[in-house]
Amino acid sequence: MLTGDDLPQRLREVQALVQKLPRPYGQSVEILAVSKYASDEALAVLAAAGQRHFAESRPQAMRDRAVKFPDLYWHMIGPVQKNKAKYIGRHATVWHSVEDADTAHAVAAHVQGRRLPVLLQADFSAAANRHGVAPGKLGALYREVSAIGQLEVIGLMCMAMPEGDTDGCFSRLHTLGKELFGQDKAELSMGMSNDFHLAVAEGATMIRLGRCLFDPVSERNV
Ligand SMILES: *Cc1c(COP(=O)(O)O)cnc(C)c1O
Repeated sequence: MLTGDDLPQRLREVQALVQKLPRPYGQSVEILAVSKYASDEALAVLAAAGQRHFAESRPQAMRDRAVKFPDLYWHMIGPVQKNKAKYIGRHATVWHSVEDADTAHAVAAHVQGRRLPVLLQADFSAAANRHGVAPGKLGALYREVSAIGQLEVIGLMCMAMPEGDTDGCFSRLHTLGKELFGQDKAELSMGMSNDFHLAVAEGATMIRLGRCLFDPVSERNV
């Protein structure tokens, strides 16, 4: 496992680990640092060490940090309610977690002077309380959101099912990406601290890492 007890060192170890992973699809992989549990100080240390892309799962937290750290790129990776749409439209660099056309329209209304890149979140579980859309409804959502001028649909996002078959989720997202966008055209946002190696093997282009980057520090601070 990873060793090293300071953040820049840990970042370099994770980067090296990702670099060494087998990539059957030859894609490039962007590491997003998920900072939802990290302090501003920890985040700033990582940024000073060269990390540019950060992700938050709560709209308000993303807005606050995007304002505080305007030189960094901010990815929205959690559920968005319509009353928080302005935070996303104004401050997100990429919005990963699009689940319905209504919210997409609400966010689009706050996008100015640019097109906001978005990904559609797929849900492979049958559970009712999970986020994302069922694979069978992805095509319809793709067409609806693609028609919104202020948004640009660039790919798909998923979280592995806690019940298992992580590999299966990632390879299904890959297949869906190929069907909707064409071979190697879709950005695939998949893989977290515990499963990013599987995601990269299945073609992930963006991996979302929280604990494996920040945890040792948060432990030390408590
Ligand atoms: C928190 C979170 C992550 C990061 O998870 P870790 O296990 O800490 O790496 C990735 N994606 C989403 C959507 C999250 O909410």
